[in-house]
Amino acid sequence: GQRLEGKRALVTAAGQGIGRASAIAMAKEGAEVFATDVNMEALSTIRDENLENIQIFELDARSTDSVTAGVAKANPDVLFNCAGFVHHGTILEATDDELDFAFDLNVRSMVRTMRAALPGMLERGGGSIINMSSALGSIMGAPNRFIYGTTKAAVVGLTKSVAVDYIKQGIRCNCICPGTVESPSWHDRVTALGKELGDYDAAMAQFVARQPMGRVATAEEIAALVVYLAADESAFTTGHTHIIDGGWSGQ
Ligand code: NAD
Repeated sequence: GQRLEGKRALVTAAGQGIGRASAIAMAKEGAEVFATDVNMEALSTIRDENLENIQIFELDARSTDSVTAGVAKANPDVLFNCAGFVHHGTILEATDDELDFAFDLNVRSMVRTMRAALPGMLERGGGSIINMSSALGSIMGAPNRFIYGTTKAAVVGLTKSVAVDYIKQGIRCNCICPGTVESPSWHDRVTALGKELGDYDAAMAQFVARQPMGRVATAEEIAALVVYLAADESAFTTGHTHIIDGGWSGQ
């Protein structure tokens, strides 16, 4: 199907994981996709998909200049803010530098891209913004996710605020709240915990045990929700947290 025909979609952090899978899924649905990342080496592998309607370019979500230039190039109808980082630890372990970094990448990056993209969306009378939150944060807490949960809860707040302010002008703004998803950075987290425990398999078992289904999600399963929120078929939903967590928080 071509559910996104005629739409221009900008994705941050499309080099790997959920961002990459979402860029590919949106292109397969007919969108003109602008896939961006700071890691051009990872991002360039998207060319292997042989999808003519994906353009790639470098966009640093932590830089206002980079975001402004990238948004001007893409002029998006759909904005998927996917960039984010997971810090490990409790409030007593979190450093101010880590907090500043996480608020900048996980939260302020979205302020930058939305400030840049909203004027064009308003001019055209419509747009769909999809922000990457997490099941961890406003939905539930998890051990050693203080910085992460705090910033991902902030994403819910900014999403609802933008949704309310522009609801009459055809702009929709939703966020997605995944459970644990298979991705390169997730594999790094499993490996790190494995080193801590001295047992990789035990670390993997711990992550999988968090998920009541007994498995983690694929990036493609999250991308399907991104496609839905980007498409006009989701026209009646805005300002919401779309939980996709394998039943984690629903137990
Ligand atoms: P990932 O963490 O493996 O990849 C992240 C990508 O972000 C990398 O390609 C990296 O180069 C890019 N990036 C880093 N800094 C950037 C910057 N300044 N500007 C632009 N791009 C930058 O991918 P993932 O695990 O799929 O995570 C993607 C998003 O999904 C994150 O916001 C994450 O918090 C969120 N999330 C992930 C999970 C999970 O379990 N994997 C669960 C819930 C939410």
